[in-house]
Amino acid sequence: MRTMIAPTLKNEDAVQELVTEISKCVHCGFCNSVCPTYQLTGNELQGPRGRIYLVKGMLERDDTNEALEDSLSKCLTCRACEPSCPSGVQYGKIAEEARFLIYNRPSRRPFLQRLLLKVIPDIVKFKRLYRIGRWFRPLVPSKSFREALSRKLPSPPTITGMKEGKVVLLQGCVQQALTPEVVLHLAELLETREIPFRVMSQERCCGSLNLHLGEKEVAQHEMTTNVTQMRIESDEIILSTASGCGVTLKEYDRYLPHLEHASSFAEAVLDISEYLVQFEFKKAHEAERVVFHSPCTLQHGQKISGIVETILTRTGYEVLPYRDSGRCCGSAGTYSLLQPKQATALRDKKIAALADVAPDVVVSANVGCQLFLEPALDVPVLHWIELLG
Ligand code: SF4
Ligand code: SF4
Repeated sequence: MRTMIAPTLKNEDAVQELVTEISKCVHCGFCNSVCPTYQLTGNELQGPRGRIYLVKGMLERDDTNEALEDSLSKCLTCRACEPSCPSGVQYGKIAEEARFLIYNRPSRRPFLQRLLLKVIPDIVKFKRLYRIGRWFRPLVPSKSFREALSRKLPSPPTITGMKEGKVVLLQGCVQQALTPEVVLHLAELLETREIPFRVMSQERCCGSLNLHLGEKEVAQHEMTTNVTQMRIESDEIILSTASGCGVTLKEYDRYLPHLEHASSFAEAVLDISEYLVQFEFKKAHEAERVVFHSPCTLQHGQKISGIVETILTRTGYEVLPYRDSGRCCGSAGTYSLLQPKQATALRDKKIAALADVAPDVVVSANVGCQLFLEPALDVPVLHWIELLG
């Protein structure tokens, strides 16, 4: 697909990457068949091919419009379209750079997006506003916000254990506030095996939230702070228990091409499944029948498939396959708050597919999916490592 870039955009860094990806597209439309938003609406402009076409128009006219902004804001950035593309179009890059170009223009960003960007990546602000939100929860008009406020903030656990070691544990922002038991459980698994680790105390948001919403420069600032403050040694590995963070952390070298240590930092990052697969575990939960809901950021973003299922099966659980397991649950970062109608429709499909196989417990690998599915299911929804002892 040939793109004639508007003269005013020729010097924008983001534009070259966009043009390279767009030029690979041959309009075949294979991607539409796996796109959750296209499946929901049947609308060409709510599928990857239509979105690419709209972004191309923006580059040629240096102008955004309602159709493009609506289409991109309804994209989950789940990247389910990428594996189906015969030309290898990396759609995730197109969505990211296009959002950056749109929201770089003054006052294009809706108020709710601005609010979420101010609050969620800052753990102190997030906890404070979350507590206030819970007091007023019955008065909150939006069902998706009421659901998001349904968990009581747990007290932060004290993670003891070895303070120095070759393993670095990340805590994440939302996970640290709402499901701190996940990293605590991981610390216990490591202690039992006498594996030394250190927990990051100065950790900043990984930048994924800002990236998803087009704030690339803010994301790069957070990433730079992480790389410089964490001071990862050459023989250390960084373990991520939230796949939504892991997918971004593994690409720090792409986002920070000129920062020393960014590529060694990115290379040191492992999803927790890639690390734990070397160990044997015993069952830590009474459940027998388990469904693993693999987040898009794990299966499409990090391209990790089958490892969690292998570990759980080896540990003694029956891992149940279920239909359309590659489809997004609708959580997708802040999507469930910003696009509640579409998110709920996708969750309903996921819940129906899960109900078909009647699991005792549903597990996931990302806090966003876990918290979004939890209120809609009548079985526990946990992080998968909580099943291991
Ligand atoms: S990222 Fe997901 S929602 Fe967006 S176009 Fe691709 S498949 Fe569709
Ligand atoms: S599958 Fe790839 S080449 Fe075909 S329309 Fe989609 S992005 Fe373009």
